[in-house]
Amino acid sequence: ESSSSKPHAVLLSSPGVGHVIPVLELGKRLVTLYNFQVTIFVVASQTSAAESKILQSAMSSKLCHVIEIPAPDISGLVDPDAAVVTIISVIMREIKPAFRSAISALKTTPTALIVDLFGTESLAIAEELQIPKYVYVGTNAWCVALFVYAPTLDKTVQGQYVVQNESFNIPGCRPLRPEDVVDPMLDRTNQQYFEYVHIGEEIPLSDGILVNTWEDLQPTALTALRDDKYLGRITKVPIYTVGPIIRRLGPAGSWNELFDWLDKQPSESVLYVSFGSGGTLTYEQITELAWGLELSQQRFIWVVRLPNETTGDGSFFTAGSGAGDDDLSSLLPDGFLSRTLDIGVVVPQWAPQIDILSHPSVGGFLSHCGWNSTLESITNGVPMIVWPLYSEQRMNATILTEELGVAIRSKVLPSKGVVGREEIKTMVRRILVDEEGYEIRAKVKELQRSAQKAWTRESGSSYSSLARLAKECGMMTKRNAND
Ligand code: UDP
Repeated sequence: ESSSSKPHAVLLSSPGVGHVIPVLELGKRLVTLYNFQVTIFVVASQTSAAESKILQSAMSSKLCHVIEIPAPDISGLVDPDAAVVTIISVIMREIKPAFRSAISALKTTPTALIVDLFGTESLAIAEELQIPKYVYVGTNAWCVALFVYAPTLDKTVQGQYVVQNESFNIPGCRPLRPEDVVDPMLDRTNQQYFEYVHIGEEIPLSDGILVNTWEDLQPTALTALRDDKYLGRITKVPIYTVGPIIRRLGPAGSWNELFDWLDKQPSESVLYVSFGSGGTLTYEQITELAWGLELSQQRFIWVVRLPNETTGDGSFFTAGSGAGDDDLSSLLPDGFLSRTLDIGVVVPQWAPQIDILSHPSVGGFLSHCGWNSTLESITNGVPMIVWPLYSEQRMNATILTEELGVAIRSKVLPSKGVVGREEIKTMVRRILVDEEGYEIRAKVKELQRSAQKAWTRESGSSYSSLARLAKECGMMTKRNAND
């Protein structure tokens, strides 16, 4: 079969490890399971060591054609202290002409365009080319509901979201507490708020929305998005569940020592502690966490970053870069490293997360609840301690604790105050030692099976949902050819 007779999907990813990973993996699945030709354009941040490594390996794998679009210089367009979402949105707006020319330069004409959440401006290019266009949201369905409802909330809610006394009613969804709202939307005077409202207006201009979730994980939010009684009248387009889409990165570099250590630990006895590709803590919080881990007397692997005193997303654009071992020993409490030598491993900056989570010795994950991390934990049957910091992580944390019952959380919201050592100690023991941990583990194992079921060939809900999309792309392509 020549490549020209296959559907040819062009995918567009915004900068950031958490954005690039689900797009690359979606592309891979379109090729291997549905016989697509796939070209992936990645707007790279060029400051993140982890992101560069991921891109290099994707480029050399040849399954998809991966092309980097250099991020434009936007220093004249945004304030020096602009928020992450503002920066990404402006970058994605500015690359539109370069993206358009890059598409024209392709040898085979694309037959479908799939952009991620921050790429909605480029849906217009598909319009020009008269090909079907989709938005791929790499997070959960409840959050998609908030996005598409954001323009309505913008018109109906007065004042800042955080000062609201009551939860927001997103039609058909569980009530959303003001403090759980996606944090770029909390300050309605900041540009990133308007970027989100704008994205919310653009999502329904697509021909379909792909969500990195599965039917059995979020039946309520998915019904809300589809049903005309609720948000269906806003979205109007099909919702394709395509999750869980996760990606095994493989342990880049040499991690033999870490895995040798893990091999020697008892089954489900180790807590993995990590705050995603961008998460940072304050110095005070790092100190409390260190003491909490030590006091719990449980085994751990902790990915430590240099502190950041202001926001929780301090290393979003620099994931996996900087800070070495020397910085760590001066950062952690005196003697911490030597006292925990036998029970703990401290890793600077970046660790091979999926390989760790899938190791039988790991029994818990203290996580910032990025959606990729959340899915990786569920698909490996690992219960969580949720520690949401930024973006939509508080919504993810609420789903995990209150809806799915596969995680526990602290009384203080980590983005609002410091979680003390005693509480950390107690949470770690609740997950790894106490009776409660066994019940939570049983629930997460059940979800693990449900995730596997969703991707069962032919019959699985996500498998067949993406098959439907693939078929539709093919049909629309033929229709165009007949025009
Ligand atoms: N990741 C990793 N090692 C690290 C930190 C992160 O492999 O030390 C991977 C992790 O497995 C996940 C992604 O980077 O796939 C982070 O995505 P997530 O949505 O969890 O959080 P974000 O980084 O977007 O906040």
